[in-house]
Amino acid sequence: MRQVKLTKKLSLKNSGELELLFIGTGSAFAKEFNQTNFLIIKGDTHIMVDFGMTGPRALNEIAKLETTDIEVILPTHSHSDHVGGIEALALMNRYVGRKFQSKPKLTMIINEDYQRVLWTHTLQGGLEWNEKGIDASEKLQFSDFFQVIRPRWKAHQPREIFEADVNEIHLEIFRTNHIPEQATSWEASFISYGLYIDKRVFISGDTQFDLDLINLYADRSEVMFHDVQFFPGAVHAPLQELKKLPPEIKQKMYLVHYSDDRKNQDISGFAGWCEQGVSYIF
Ligand SMILES: [Zn+2]
Repeated sequence: MRQVKLTKKLSLKNSGELELLFIGTGSAFAKEFNQTNFLIIKGDTHIMVDFGMTGPRALNEIAKLETTDIEVILPTHSHSDHVGGIEALALMNRYVGRKFQSKPKLTMIINEDYQRVLWTHTLQGGLEWNEKGIDASEKLQFSDFFQVIRPRWKAHQPREIFEADVNEIHLEIFRTNHIPEQATSWEASFISYGLYIDKRVFISGDTQFDLDLINLYADRSEVMFHDVQFFPGAVHAPLQELKKLPPEIKQKMYLVHYSDDRKNQDISGFAGWCEQGVSYIF
């Protein structure tokens, strides 16, 4: 894996290498860092993974791209630092991208259960009252904004896992145990996912410390990007817990989704901080 600092507009196409570019690496409440949202690029295909409140601006600041450049979105869970920018993405695509550039609908990678939750509880309020028909009561639907790639459920796994192939990008989408704090397993927590990309890169998504999850993918991952927080308990993975991992896991683990006080933390033994504006190329 090599790291290349982005110094110009990000190309959403490459020669076929797997490339990850984080437009943000911060927590929901970070000010110094944008919220943790990233692009996967391979060949002619790109996937925007999460698009939070800071997404539209971060996309422009870090990658020099516009929301209308994005064609595929994968939301991992319904916290606003992960989905708060999707309304803007959907509106810009429908009323600017498609109208003036004749682009196709946005593609969303999402299973049926989560589609229902995301539309009903997050997106519907800002999207349904638009120009559907002459009758003002006729409202727009999820399918007016998005076409869907439906991940396939993977049988005989120790937790809920889906798979999806987006052209040449292979995704495993696994459930995580994120909130509420008192949830002791992924079954007891709300819908939240992490990713295992091209059978080589692990991205924890938002999760509490979950040794079963880390052990499920550690041996099969060249690099792991893991959620971190700098205090015990709560809904992310405490640095103190991650520090107890074996050295061979820590040395391939980059920490992400951090708060602004990362400079006060000792992360010796880990691969480092995941940095926004850097392409990780495999
Ligand atoms: Zn979250």
